[in-house]
Amino acid sequence: MVIVMAPQAGDADLAEVVRRVEAAGGSAFVSRGVTRTIVGVVGDEAVLESVDVTHVPAVAEVVRITSPYKLVSREHHPRTSTVSVGGVPIGPDTFTLIAGPCAVESAEQTLAAAQMARGAGATLLRGGAYKPRTSPYAFQGLGVAGLRILADVRAETGLPVVTEIVDAADVDTVCKYADMLQIGTRNMQNFSLLQAVGAAGKPVLLKRGLVATYEEWLMAAEYIAQRGNLDIVLCERGIRTAETSTRNTLDVSAVPIVHTLSHLPVIVDPSHAAGRRDLVVPLARAGMAIGADGVIVDVHPDPERALCDGTQALHGTSLEELTVAVATIPPLLGRRSAVTADPLPTR
Ligand code: PEP
Ligand code: MN
Repeated sequence: MVIVMAPQAGDADLAEVVRRVEAAGGSAFVSRGVTRTIVGVVGDEAVLESVDVTHVPAVAEVVRITSPYKLVSREHHPRTSTVSVGGVPIGPDTFTLIAGPCAVESAEQTLAAAQMARGAGATLLRGGAYKPRTSPYAFQGLGVAGLRILADVRAETGLPVVTEIVDAADVDTVCKYADMLQIGTRNMQNFSLLQAVGAAGKPVLLKRGLVATYEEWLMAAEYIAQRGNLDIVLCERGIRTAETSTRNTLDVSAVPIVHTLSHLPVIVDPSHAAGRRDLVVPLARAGMAIGADGVIVDVHPDPERALCDGTQALHGTSLEELTVAVATIPPLLGRRSAVTADPLPTR
């Protein structure tokens, strides 16, 4: 059971809620976020039934859900949420294209990639300044210099920025520059990082762990929500399977299943799933057709020279094909798309 305090709740209101939980024989775990304070209640069923906070005016909501994830569950919030990222919606009525370089390499490369992204119909810019590379010898990102480049490119193009955070110690710094904090697949169960971004008051893009079940993924999201931040978008980015012809296997079932379990928007990342440019657009189309709320793709002005993931970066014709797909497929499912394009022949 979870008790959500109203935004105006003060210390005395919180103490009253904790007193009532303890009087019923339960334990209260208080979690303070920027916009909301949430009290988790632990106790057996009899305890949970007897906790009575109905007449405490500073209580906004009592969530009596027994699954291991509560605030992010569909039961808690029957309609799919819309998350606003710098004014750009991600949710059930729209289809959002997020595009940009895998890594920020230089001001020129990032601006060129952002212009390609915007030209293709993207309304959000992706780009990593901190790169969680599997090899310690691979390019690790430009760090703060990369964040500054992203902010400059946002000023130039108007595209709000989505960027990865890999260390809880960097939350304040990354928040200064980013519009949305990305948690990568390798950090999906880094619980202290999840709690830190939950308390940061910025929307979060939570990628699915390499071998995570839907329940594990949603419990990771609950760590963020439990800090009072429900502005979470889930991203299916492929899971590890026995297949070796692709980098990972895009699990398209994740989209409708997780939409059933949770009210959070779900997008797909066909670039990191495939690891191959030729499969990015077909997998993006599959994501659109199965009801994803958006896609996030890598683009690069010169993929041959990319410092990270060049083999999967779109450019030229492949990017044009993506634009056509974004303009045509989501509207068939009743979604508004920011892109309008003349249909090109598709392969
Ligand atoms: C990325 O989006 O740049 C990235 C590293 O993705 P993932 O965490 O899905 O591998
Ligand atoms: Mn990458």
